[in-house]
Amino acid sequence: MNKLSSRRKFLKTTAAASAAVAAGAAGVNSLAPGIWPEKMVFEPNQSYWAKSQAAANPPLRQDLEADVAIIGGGFTGLSSAYYIRQNQPAKKVVVLEARGCGNGASGRNGAMVLTMTADRFMQFSADPAIDKRIYDLTVENIRQLHALSTASGIDCELETNGALEVFNTKADLEAGKAYVEKARKLGMDVEVWDKQRTYEALGTRLYEGAFLDRQCGQVHPMKLVQVFKAAAQKAGAEIYENTAVARVEEGNTIRLHTAAGHTVTAKSLVLASNAYTSRLGFFRNGIVPIFNYVGITPALSDAQIAEVGWRSRLPFSDSRTIVTYLGLTRDNRIHIGGGKANYSFNDGLQQRLDAGQAFRNLRSELARIFPSTASLEFETTWSGAVDCSLDFSSSVGRWRDNIYYGIGYCGHGVNLTSLFGRIIADFEAGREQQWNDLPFVNHRFLYVPNEPFRWVGAQAALAYYRMSG
Ligand SMILES: Cc1cc2nc3c(=O)[nH]c(=O)nc-3n(C[C@H](O)[C@H](O)[C@H](O)COP(=O)(O)OP(=O)(O)OC[C@H]3O[C@@H](n4cnc5c(N)ncnc54)[C@H](O)[C@@H]3O)c2cc1C
Repeated sequence: MNKLSSRRKFLKTTAAASAAVAAGAAGVNSLAPGIWPEKMVFEPNQSYWAKSQAAANPPLRQDLEADVAIIGGGFTGLSSAYYIRQNQPAKKVVVLEARGCGNGASGRNGAMVLTMTADRFMQFSADPAIDKRIYDLTVENIRQLHALSTASGIDCELETNGALEVFNTKADLEAGKAYVEKARKLGMDVEVWDKQRTYEALGTRLYEGAFLDRQCGQVHPMKLVQVFKAAAQKAGAEIYENTAVARVEEGNTIRLHTAAGHTVTAKSLVLASNAYTSRLGFFRNGIVPIFNYVGITPALSDAQIAEVGWRSRLPFSDSRTIVTYLGLTRDNRIHIGGGKANYSFNDGLQQRLDAGQAFRNLRSELARIFPSTASLEFETTWSGAVDCSLDFSSSVGRWRDNIYYGIGYCGHGVNLTSLFGRIIADFEAGREQQWNDLPFVNHRFLYVPNEPFRWVGAQAALAYYRMSG
């Protein structure tokens, strides 16, 4: 069994165990959301990328009626707004964002633009034909990112020369070779590199080899947010920033109550609030927000970069269970993310007190990979919440009647989110049939119990990751 499937099996067992304990204490489980209500807090984005955030639009200052209301101004929300307006230009579409567009994961991530979904990356399911269809759809979506960036006139530093997954052990390398052999027969644009070739590309001899997907790449995440914001507005969507939705009233007509006391009435709703969604009472028993940490160095000189030896400039992540991912910006800053993931009680989305240790670990990991960077300090560090599901699958579709959603990206959403935006737009237009064969459409997540069982389960799962990482 490879690492991913053993990890999945463990998570399912953890989920089942937590659910069993929760069932045994069903009273506490059902009362928990009332005992521990989640706080409506949206901590600011302190990432390096946030320096490129576009000026915020004004907040909503009056009550409003719309055809479609979208909660969340990240990739999912902005791309849904764009595609809904493309499909149905007569519809009034409004996006409500608690802070600025890109305040969530879309403006804080590791910048890797990836094919596939988290649960199928380098991993075949029982139906390889469906895996290939997902590969093709995500490859086509990357082309769409290029097209939207060009059309907006915003250079989001999208480079799709490939991305690498590096292997720490010979066993991982062999598993990678077996995957690639099958994937190439299906027409996927992937290959395996040996140790020497990986060294020539990355300048480090740490790895036994690497998996290359030529269709992947990297981007400046906040500039990509800018692209989607511009595209949505050009298509006619209205975007209100610094407008947190505090409560959703479901019904034939949906009523959203903002924290500032205004009401938005809409015929349909798109939940694009990602790791924060449980605050509104949705997906509380399907998604666990797991914290990830990122650090970035100052811009390195040409001489420093030459010493590092990262000649290919391709972004890469490693194949250990606790993933580390690295990228190189156009102006020669190295960013590294991942490491010791964390869960905060009651879906807390605020930076934990022990974040300092997580950043020190990332710093040591960077020096281990590239010894010539040992004396460098991070210029900026930040954290962000990843919306994890217990089976690593994502889901897009209809929650109920007139409520649509895209969620569960598990750290693999920079590209997938806007494919989901397209799918959401088709759902909203009643044209979802073409997507129904895809496994993530209306996928039902494994049950996550309420607190305190969720905290216990999450700690057990994360401890397992650390031990096996
Ligand atoms: C540290 C980190 C590294 C990552 N690295 C990668 C990577 O390298 N490659 C990759 O493919 N993926 C990566 N991901 C995942 C990827 O960033 C996400 O899957 C993707 O950005 C999700 O986009 P989204 O629009 O669904 O959510 P978000 O970008 O989180 O947007 C949700 C928005 O909703 C708003 N919101 C929430 N609740 C409310 C409310 N009640 N009222 C109003 N607004 C609200 C939030 O403020 C937020 O802006 C990473 C994620 C993190 C956190």
